[in-house]
This record gives sequence, structure tokens and C-alpha cells, in this order.
Amino acid sequence: RFIALEGGEGTGKSTQSRLLADALRERGHEVVTTREPGGTPGAEAIRALLLDPPGEGWGPRAEALLFAAARSDHVEALIRPALAQGAWVVCDRFVDSSRAYQGGAGGLEDEAISRLHAFGSEGLRPDCTILLECGEDQLAQRLARRDGDSSDAIGGRPIAYHRAVAQSFRDLAEADPEGFRIVDGSGSPDEVHARIMAALGRLLGE
Ligand code: C5P
Repeated sequence: RFIALEGGEGTGKSTQSRLLADALRERGHEVVTTREPGGTPGAEAIRALLLDPPGEGWGPRAEALLFAAARSDHVEALIRPALAQGAWVVCDRFVDSSRAYQGGAGGLEDEAISRLHAFGSEGLRPDCTILLECGEDQLAQRLARRDGDSSDAIGGRPIAYHRAVAQSFRDLAEADPEGFRIVDGSGSPDEVHARIMAALGRLLGE
């Protein structure tokens, strides 16, 4: 089984990936946790180029291609082999991050991102995508704690950009209720974890 966690920065994806993986292991499953961009040496090298771009930075198309290239390596070298061996894969971000960031917020057509994904990763989709949502106040607080960022520019990008990302994630999730579960990311890590386990219900065979 392949589960992706999605959401903007500070919504708790990495904490929840860890808690979910622990819970699955307790149920006797073999679990591989990974993240995007990254997850393999090649994709981590591309991550470094994306997060600390040389020169003037990447244009939106080059950026989308780099994310797709990193994902292609990640899928081929890690995700597909793990799934083939019967492991559960828990991935912190997947293609829907590209659709929300480079697509919805960045202005590229969703169709273009999907074409890149069809070519790069043969269109692989998670069995379930958990979208973590937080209110803006809570988000700003968590990010200030994590990065020391001021709330009007998170990670060097204005709050309006992050709003567009959040809206885009919500649109994607609402358009695909079979593939997504929208989970309230507010409250303690344990509270959010319990919501995720409940949302996964049927997939866990419970
Ligand atoms: O998930 P994490 O916070 O580690 O993501 C690293 C950075 O990459 C974040 O700033 C995120 O906004 C950005 N990102 C992006 N487009 C994606 C995936 C991540 O801009 N498709």
C-alpha cells in the first residue's frame, strides 16, 4: 500500500508520517518512510538544487521538470521496489505537491504536471492521500517555532502564495474524494494521528 501525506509547510506532515509508520509497524507491516523532493541519493541531489538554486533560481517550467525528475528516480529506485516486496510506503509529499505548488500556486497547467508525471513515474498514484489542513494562525505559530520566520513571508514566499497552495490542495482533494482524505491538522500530534488512523480505516482493514 502506498500512502502520501500532503499539505503546506508546518501542517505536521513529517511528524505524522513518523507516527503513521510506527502504528503500521505495530500492526506487523513492513514500512518504508520517505519524502519528496528526495528519498534516493539522486533525488536528494536534485532537492539540494531546488532548495538552494544556483544563480537567479529556476523558472517555473525548469522547476517542475526538476521535481518530476526527482520523483521519477524516487519512484523507480525506491517506491516501486518497496511496493513490489509488499511493504507499505509512507511518503511525505508526492505529485499533488507539484500540482498545488507549481500548478495551483505557480501557474502551470495541471494537465502539464500530469503529463510530466505520466512520463516520469508512469502516473503512479498513492492508494490514499492524506491532506493535512491547518488554520493560518496555527500555521504561522508552528512555522515561527520551526524556522523563526515572520508570518508575512514563510520560507521566503509571501503568505498569499501559501494561501494559494492551501486552496489548490483543497480543490484537488475535493475533486477526488476517492483518492483523498482531508484531515484536520490542528491540535496535538496524537490527536491528529488518531484522525489519520480513522480516515484510513478501510485501507487498514479495520
Ligand atoms: O516538505 P518540505 O517542507 O521539506 O518541502 C521543502 C520545500 O519545497 C518547501 O519549501 C516546499 O514549499 C517546497 N516544495 C515546492 N514544490 C513541491 C514540493 C515542495 O515548492 N512540489
